[in-house]
Amino acid sequence: MMNAAGPNLMDRIKETKEVFWLNPKYESKSISEAGGLTMTDMLDAEARLKRFAPYIASIFPETAENSGIIESPLSEIPYMKDALESCDRPILGRLLLKCDSHLPISGSIKARGGIYEVLKHAEKLALEEGALSPKNDYSILHEKRFKELFSRHKIAVGSTGNLGLSIGIMSAALGFKVFVHMSSDARQWKKDLLRHKGVTIVEYASDYSKAVEEGRKQSDSDPSSYFIDDENSKDLFLGYSVAALRLQNQMKDLGIEIDENHPLFVYIPCGVGGGPGGVAFGLKVIFGPHVHCFFAEPTHSPCMLVGMMTGLHNQISVQDLGIDNITEADGLAVGRPSGFVGKTMESLLSGIYTVEDRELYKLLATLADTENIYIEPSAAAGFPGPSWLLNSPYGQEYIKSSGLSDKMNNSAHIVWATGGSMVPDTIKMSYYHKGKAYKRAESK
Ligand SMILES: *Cc1c(COP(=O)(O)O)cnc(C)c1O
Repeated sequence: MMNAAGPNLMDRIKETKEVFWLNPKYESKSISEAGGLTMTDMLDAEARLKRFAPYIASIFPETAENSGIIESPLSEIPYMKDALESCDRPILGRLLLKCDSHLPISGSIKARGGIYEVLKHAEKLALEEGALSPKNDYSILHEKRFKELFSRHKIAVGSTGNLGLSIGIMSAALGFKVFVHMSSDARQWKKDLLRHKGVTIVEYASDYSKAVEEGRKQSDSDPSSYFIDDENSKDLFLGYSVAALRLQNQMKDLGIEIDENHPLFVYIPCGVGGGPGGVAFGLKVIFGPHVHCFFAEPTHSPCMLVGMMTGLHNQISVQDLGIDNITEADGLAVGRPSGFVGKTMESLLSGIYTVEDRELYKLLATLADTENIYIEPSAAAGFPGPSWLLNSPYGQEYIKSSGLSDKMNNSAHIVWATGGSMVPDTIKMSYYHKGKAYKRAESK
């Protein structure tokens, strides 16, 4: 496949312009393994989440309706589709929103991987202690003896915010001592909420990579502490991948087929890479060449893009290119990508595009106006995807060389909305008004 934006691409990235990159190493194929992980690992993760479901339902009442399974709706968004088409060309196929913004417990995609890894660690400790058997009804984890067991253990994580929320809330509920190492860009309300749950927040003046590095160092020096490694953890990655198994069923329920005549396109916001990587890995295992995955990054934090396009992965940061890594998109302000994810996705990812912050605000306001769904800025990064694919020369080249030119009317596009429902109302409204103001300024 030809490399999309040509020789000037790196210049445009450095100038923090919006770009669309097609992965020249992409291979249209079925896979049974990537990064050492397989369908068996995904099913194992799904089974573990099922074992914990009775416990989750008992302590988080908002999950009771879904029997303790932490899942989000997949919704058709026809009014948003109309709005996007009115300022651009038609979006061929169906447009759907995966509402991880409304996942229970922590309101972001991190409720998948983050919570999963905490549960896995808790299960391991309880099994080792002889206090639990996989045959038990896990709602017994509610009992005081388990809280006492877990209170002798620590969990630590470095986070820009949302991973800290997921891990902090879940670990604290189980009874662990939790330490969340946060970067300077983390929002005050997230720190306040976690402190309220009994989580210890350690703050750093610099960015996410520093918070992770320091958190890891402190945790490694303490044998009772378990560090959740956002950059390299296979458990996190597998927790995210379970989304694909669930999505397969949700699409069946909506009557959406995916096969050689019905391609699926998925657009997922990317920070360090674990969330979108895990979801995309799961989708490729299930749908093989019929699913096409694109990541979206802020123009000021295109870490996965520069890592994959140079092949240097975690050996390069956006700061190395003179890019400041300053964005209002929480969770995406990451300067250095996960090497594990970049390498695992090397032949699986179709491409990556970047989005300006200003565009994110406009899109979240449009979504609120058309569908009455409120998401956070980072979660809106998926929306420009269909237009890049359908209306840019590089996107059209991708469609043509993939043999999909006459199949786009039968396609489905899923925009992955990765966060937002935990944002306090006043902040939610300020995001909305900011988006409206940008839109007004442009329509004058
Ligand atoms: C963390 C996050 C992402 C991206 O996940 P990574 O695993 O960091 O790539 C996307 N959107 C939101 C809202 C997030 O919090």
